[in-house]
Amino acid sequence: ATPTALMVGTGRGAQIGILIKGPEVLENTRKADTIVLDKTGTVTTGRMTLLAVRTAEGEDETEVLRLAGALEHASEHPIAQAVAAGAQERVGTLPAPEDFANIAGLGVQGVVDGHAVLVGREKLLEDWAIVLPPALAEAKAAAEQQGRTAITVAWDGRARAVLEVADAIKPTSAEAIRRLRALGLTPILLTGDNRAVAESVAAEVGIDEVIAEVMPEDKVAVVQRLQAEGKSVAMVGDGVNDAAALATADLGLAMGTGTDAAMEAGDLTLVRGDLRAAADAIRLSRKTLFTIK
Ligand code: ADP
Ligand code: MG
Repeated sequence: ATPTALMVGTGRGAQIGILIKGPEVLENTRKADTIVLDKTGTVTTGRMTLLAVRTAEGEDETEVLRLAGALEHASEHPIAQAVAAGAQERVGTLPAPEDFANIAGLGVQGVVDGHAVLVGREKLLEDWAIVLPPALAEAKAAAEQQGRTAITVAWDGRARAVLEVADAIKPTSAEAIRRLRALGLTPILLTGDNRAVAESVAAEVGIDEVIAEVMPEDKVAVVQRLQAEGKSVAMVGDGVNDAAALATADLGLAMGTGTDAAMEAGDLTLVRGDLRAAADAIRLSRKTLFTIK
């Protein structure tokens, strides 16, 4: 493949909503046989909504929303934005947290009105030796059975509530997966979200392989493991938590609707955030190399 001929491919890419970092990228695009897809913001819209609040015995829903909402208001995570928006809608103005920290892949922690508050995965609470009472554990399981993400809320050492959030699958995702399969790629769904939610999304878009409950730093290890098995790995992601995996993959595809970190780490940007463009990119790269043979 001559550099000039490949440049023709990159120009064509820009026209159809794919930004390619350099002509050399097309070679890896052509070779990819496995495509790892981040769930939130990539296969799904990433726009979450707070659907329900399940409080533990004796807890006040307004207080749960006030404290959890205040903390989440300080985070940019799509789940956090859903919780903060839902809380504001129901309880009005939220207090400003006195302390706040984002714990990647787990949730948020901080101080609101003098209370030490945690909002996030059950694992975050477990790290602080906080156990869900049976009623909340049941509410969490029921929500996940329905394909919703259950977020746990605790303060001052006690679990207080489960928040149910859900996110819609992009209308183009199922077609994109069909096209990627038709090009001979094996799709794998990769997410920090829980297994039940991940499997329900995978089933809906036609993905058989699911790697769930993965910490952000372990997404890289998943890509490396697939590479060690001899696979040529393409990875599609949108988040800060996907950047390292995008850089490690043989081919990193970033959603143009996602974070700058993902776009900087990727080789290719799908400008419109439409997963079908991933299939277009692979088809284009094969055609480009074919033409110049
Ligand atoms: P994904 O890999 O699907 O993009 P993340 O790695 O960002 O997801 O997060 C993994 C999980 O951690 C989420 O599904 C959620 O349960 C929890 N989580 C992360 N950040 C937050 C937050 N700010 N508020 C509540 N839960 C969070
Ligand atoms: Mg994501």
